[in-house]
Amino acid sequence: MTTNQMPVQRCQYCGSDDLGLGWQHGEALVTYKKHGLLGSRLRYLICRRCGAVVYQWVAEPHKYPPIK
Ligand SMILES: [Zn+2]
Repeated sequence: MTTNQMPVQRCQYCGSDDLGLGWQHGEALVTYKKHGLLGSRLRYLICRRCGAVVYQWVAEPHKYPPIK
């Protein structure tokens, strides 16, 4: 996902459009196997003015099994 495809272009809390992109590191992997270690890191869209997390998503959504 590139920046111009973001569903959020503006902070819903303070109205700023000065957004930054971040990676979650450490233990916050969202795995696609119940006991697996494989997974995608979370990515975050952060408001650079007030610090709110305005959007978050996994890096590789196609790896996750569909529910239907
Ligand atoms: Zn903000």
